[in-house]
Amino acid sequence: MPATYEDQQFFIGGRPTDSVSGRRMDVTDPSTGKVLTSVPAGDAADVAGAVAAAREAFDTGPWPRMSGRDRGRVLHRVADLIRERADELVEVESRDVGKPVTLARHVDVETVAQQYEYCSALAQTLDGSVRDTPIPALAYTRREPLGVVGAITPFNFPLILSSTKIAAALAAGNTVVHKPADDTPLSALFMARLLADAGVPDGVLNVVTGTGPEAGDALLRHPGVDKIAFTGSTAVGRRAASVAGEHLKPVTMELGGNGAHLVFADADIEIAVGAVIKAFVFNTGQFCMAGPRLLVAAEIHDTVVGILRHAVPGVPLGDPRDPATVIGPMAGDQHRKKVEEYVALARQEGGQIVTGGERPALGGDLADGFYYAPTVITGLPADSRVVNEEVFGPVLTVQSFADEDEAVALANSTAYGLAAGLHTRDLTRAHRVAGRLDAGIVWVNDWAMLDPAVPFGGVKQSGFGREYGPEALEAYTKVRSVVISLPPTTATGEQS
Ligand code: NAD
Repeated sequence: MPATYEDQQFFIGGRPTDSVSGRRMDVTDPSTGKVLTSVPAGDAADVAGAVAAAREAFDTGPWPRMSGRDRGRVLHRVADLIRERADELVEVESRDVGKPVTLARHVDVETVAQQYEYCSALAQTLDGSVRDTPIPALAYTRREPLGVVGAITPFNFPLILSSTKIAAALAAGNTVVHKPADDTPLSALFMARLLADAGVPDGVLNVVTGTGPEAGDALLRHPGVDKIAFTGSTAVGRRAASVAGEHLKPVTMELGGNGAHLVFADADIEIAVGAVIKAFVFNTGQFCMAGPRLLVAAEIHDTVVGILRHAVPGVPLGDPRDPATVIGPMAGDQHRKKVEEYVALARQEGGQIVTGGERPALGGDLADGFYYAPTVITGLPADSRVVNEEVFGPVLTVQSFADEDEAVALANSTAYGLAAGLHTRDLTRAHRVAGRLDAGIVWVNDWAMLDPAVPFGGVKQSGFGREYGPEALEAYTKVRSVVISLPPTTATGEQS
């Protein structure tokens, strides 16, 4: 077993630390179903230790007191180290989540390096402004860090989603306690050591592994935590926001999604179908920004479904270690079971399975992995639960629309509002429809074009607050106003 998987411990106050209780939880390789390693199972006592370290680092340590430029220099070293150690990070993320290595390298690891590069620049932009007032005073504002940030992250993009929070929070001068997902915690522990190697001072980033109801809940309630940055399901987010609300902690909520992908009759069908496939098989459909609801103009419905029927089974599925693999296993057997339940429900609801709808037959080491064939379903009614709920797996439902108004109405008919996309050659329509969709981000003629400079977040039940872009600093800073009395003076400098 590579060294990375041995002796997994929390990272608190700059040191590997074991849990107070000594309890541990297994981490499984989803591609084989075999136990890979274990991590400490943290609880309130461990969270208290991590918050104390983060508090001390914030109250007395150098990080919040450094200039933004100096913090930026350290964050840039983090990006450099990520690139130097990319092979190890790819290995950890692929083993832990079941991610195809090509995806892990070109999306996860590369994105995280870019996030730190971007945030190293952002750290230097924390500024305020002078306010013109009629009162005899110099009035100005400053942007200041919030304090200790509690970050809680989901299983599907562990590296990217934790770095989204941590890089921005650190850029602003905060310190962090991170609780990664129960079943994919390894890259968080790896990154904590990497940040320390890059020169992030002790106590600035602390990682406690454990379950949501134990470690996560303790983080939400801890009085020493000044802000909660949560990414996860809408159901858990709702509970987390209410606990944080009891304690009057500000929260950022990045929650579930169920993106609509609209294909108008004038679209470039080849480009559109490529994007449609990407949008539901990417990361084996475990993707908050997935596009699992295809809405296609009635006149091209049968053509598009015909192309999907032939193209989808050809997407390479299998061993995540094979560089050609596009679809790996799901990250856990419980996630696959949920998908199977939804596909069974789709059959009951009258849906027709165009392709997929079963576990693929794989042999050897992969026989017990958590694989599920990419599945396309037509014929579901508009009020189908499979259409309206977040399946979070490689499942695409297809509905047709008669005109633009119906397309928009169907797109906006779920409780979610994270991502949406549309395909058309008509630029006027692209602008018009993009402005009508309930979504924090809208892609035109592609899917999942993301960049650390472009803000990301949801509306409706997909949450609130924005990450990425300069907007991220608003989530991790507070504004202080300073008003200095300047009594009017005479020309000789005496008070008049
Ligand atoms: P989840 O809600 O089950 O868990 C998310 C995190 O919350 C985990 O760390 C978990 O341990 C923790 N948690 C669980 N119960 C808790 C509790 N009682 N108190 C405090 N913390 C608790 O989500 P998941 O299954 O890991 O991830 C999938 C979900 O995340 C999907 O709904 C997906 O859409 C969403 N997601 C959203 C975004 C986004 O940016 N909007 C990104 C990725 C995933």
